[in-house]
Amino acid sequence: MVKKLEGIDLTVCGLPRGEDNMEIMIRKLAMKSGEQIEIRETSDGEHVCPVCGAILSSDPPYALVTEVDGKQIEPFATGSFEICATCGTEFGVDDYVSSKEPVGSQSKKWQELREIWKRKIGNSKELLAQLKNLETK
Ligand SMILES: [Zn+2]
Repeated sequence: MVKKLEGIDLTVCGLPRGEDNMEIMIRKLAMKSGEQIEIRETSDGEHVCPVCGAILSSDPPYALVTEVDGKQIEPFATGSFEICATCGTEFGVDDYVSSKEPVGSQSKKWQELREIWKRKIGNSKELLAQLKNLETK
C-alpha cells in the first residue's frame, strides 16, 4: 500500500511492534548522488534509526535541503547531525558517504554500521527485535 504525504511516496508496511500495531511509513528522499534513501516514520510521527531500527526521540535522521544561501535548489537529503541514543550513529557524520560514491553506497554504509552494532550488542534479544522496524513486509 502506498500513501501520498507531502507529495512524497510513502509505503505503509504496518509492522507490528510490541502490543500496539504501529504503522511504519517509508519516506523516500533523494540524495545528491541520486540515491533514493528510505527514512522510516511511525504513525506517531517518530523516526526510525536507519542503522539499528531504534525509534528516535529526536528530529529525523535525514532531511531535505531545499535552499542554499537563500537560493532555491533541487532538494536533496542530508544528515541531520542527530545522534541515535541506541547505536550512537551521528547522522551525516558516522554514516557519511560522499555524493561522488555510486548509488547504493548510503544503504551499504548503514548495513556496515548495522553489522558493527550487532557485533557490539551480541545476542540482546530486545535490541535485535527493533531491527524489525527496518524490514519491508
Ligand atoms: Zn541507531
